[in-house]
Amino acid sequence: MPISFIRSCYAISELPADGLPEIAFIGRSNVGKSSLINAISKKKGLAKVSSTPGKTQSLNYFRFDDDFYLVDMPGYGYARVAKTSREIWGKLFESYFLERKEMKSVGVLVDSRHPGLANDEVVIDWFIEQNTPFFIVLTKTDKINQSELAKHENYLRTRIGTTASIFRTSSEKGRGVKELGWHLKDIAKKKDSATSE
Ligand code: GDP
Repeated sequence: MPISFIRSCYAISELPADGLPEIAFIGRSNVGKSSLINAISKKKGLAKVSSTPGKTQSLNYFRFDDDFYLVDMPGYGYARVAKTSREIWGKLFESYFLERKEMKSVGVLVDSRHPGLANDEVVIDWFIEQNTPFFIVLTKTDKINQSELAKHENYLRTRIGTTASIFRTSSEKGRGVKELGWHLKDIAKKKDSATSE
């Protein structure tokens, strides 16, 4: 998919004003988010791999054709267990999720080997509570066997219910990446048909 980095935004007032649909990607630091964005775009080095946790808060905008923005958020830490989502991502992200009309869905990236980590659960619970559309992207599935993977997916399925999709991906092996790309396009298209009515 043709994709380009647009810019990093540090305040809601800096977000693009062109009304293009947006899909956010969040996850723990080191979950494999940069690798996955690079794999979807087929561009190496587009999103920086192995960023350090706890750096400046920013919403990093990537544009996919004229279809949508993928909004990459810095990985949250995992050393300290948070009680609330605000502790995990602070005010900027909270405002973004609560107020941003262009935001159509959030991809929550979860390491396929560790489906029940505390901060991931806080984040997922918050999206469920807020009625924010989201989907789960399991990463690094090449590092786990099929039966463990099925077990972990089942665990998540019981946690989130039947509405949100779960994708299995490995950036390393290129598994599930195309399907995830199609899903992103579908989400963006849905918005178009809704507004053209
Ligand atoms: P980020 O911090 O979430 O952006 O994570 P990165 O994309 O920087 O990846 C963190 C580490 O996991 C790096 O060493 C990657 O090479 C590795 N990694 C990412 N995706 C995969 C994957 O699908 N399979 C394997 N085996 N390693 C991966």
